[in-house]
Amino acid sequence: MSSNMKGINTICTHAGALEDTKFKGAVSPLYMSTSYDFLDVDTKRYPRYFNTPNQESLSRKIAALEHAEAAMIFGSGMAAISSTLLTFLKSGDHAVIQNDIYGGTRSFIESHFKSYGIDYSFTKDLSSEAFEHCIQENTKLIYIETPSNPLLKLVDLFAIAKLAKSHSIITAADNTFASPIVQNPLVLGVDIVMHSATKYFGGHSDISAGAVASSKEIMNKIWDLSKDFGGNLSDYTVWLLERSMKTLGIRVKAQQRNAKRLAKFLNKHTGVKSVYYPGLKTNEYHSLAKIQMKGFGAMMSFELTDDHNVVAFLKALQLIKPSMSLAGVESTMLLPSKTSHALLSQTDRLLQGISDQLIRFSIGIESKSDLIKDIEQAISVSKYKS
Ligand SMILES: *Cc1c(COP(=O)(O)O)cnc(C)c1O
Repeated sequence: MSSNMKGINTICTHAGALEDTKFKGAVSPLYMSTSYDFLDVDTKRYPRYFNTPNQESLSRKIAALEHAEAAMIFGSGMAAISSTLLTFLKSGDHAVIQNDIYGGTRSFIESHFKSYGIDYSFTKDLSSEAFEHCIQENTKLIYIETPSNPLLKLVDLFAIAKLAKSHSIITAADNTFASPIVQNPLVLGVDIVMHSATKYFGGHSDISAGAVASSKEIMNKIWDLSKDFGGNLSDYTVWLLERSMKTLGIRVKAQQRNAKRLAKFLNKHTGVKSVYYPGLKTNEYHSLAKIQMKGFGAMMSFELTDDHNVVAFLKALQLIKPSMSLAGVESTMLLPSKTSHALLSQTDRLLQGISDQLIRFSIGIESKSDLIKDIEQAISVSKYKS
């Protein structure tokens, strides 16, 4: 199926699907073989070569969603990210990295890059001038993540891609928070897009997976290293992930509609000090979001006013779950100060704009009115008695 001729929900449902020629079943057959014929074949298939029938099939769907020539599926988002970074960064190279990135990615860079002889600069300022300022003679890669965790800051994808091209530097963007339904970095000139498929792709908080999409040339390079690292996903989970991705479009759009309503509700509430959501007209990234995103996503964060106990608030929630991960059909909330940013001192957290009152909110598909009621009652219960 030619993806450029179809609507997004048709791509989610059908792109890449394997045909069941024997029984004419409606869904892709699952091939669990880890052993394939080697005689009389053009392709030697093996799970760690990322080329079993189900891996190839789902890769085609992901490539279609990201407007890429090719894609690969990994056992986790970090397997996808680490394999990609080490493909393009060797000893003596330098990378420019956005400061606000996923904690696991940051940990990978800070704990291991030195031992590989890879140098890096973090930029807190997200303007392309700031990125340019960090570029050195040996810079090989620019790494971005937009919207970022947990403050939903945006990076101008087009501007950064253009800057990188003018210096012959590769750009890689973590598109997990947006999903391909909301944002397609490759269309804006970025070279490589990565996903924690554990989040929106899976969408039901029950699959660990990752994905990378790019040109055939770049994917061949990533494949060359990845087949030796061995970060592939088992075919049964690949098959389950295909099932999840059929509803990616309708899930994300429903989550996004809920998010818009919830952001407005929180923004007006007297118990809420601030809301970080690019969909709000007052948000500093609103105009950029309108240019590079289709909608504003379904992640946000907000701060309760100081007269509320945030832990009591989370404990008082009856529908929304205090939970570590994100992007499932169920709404979840977490405290960055007690999870992703717990290892920083309170002063360092505050320097990054992350107060102890900050709550990250992943909006699910429940009825808006129930989510609002749940938050309303939890805010009133968590107010300190004066
Ligand atoms: C979760 C996450 C990752 C890491 O993915 P895993 O599947 O947990 O390995 C990377 N980037 C972002 C933005 C994430 O939210």
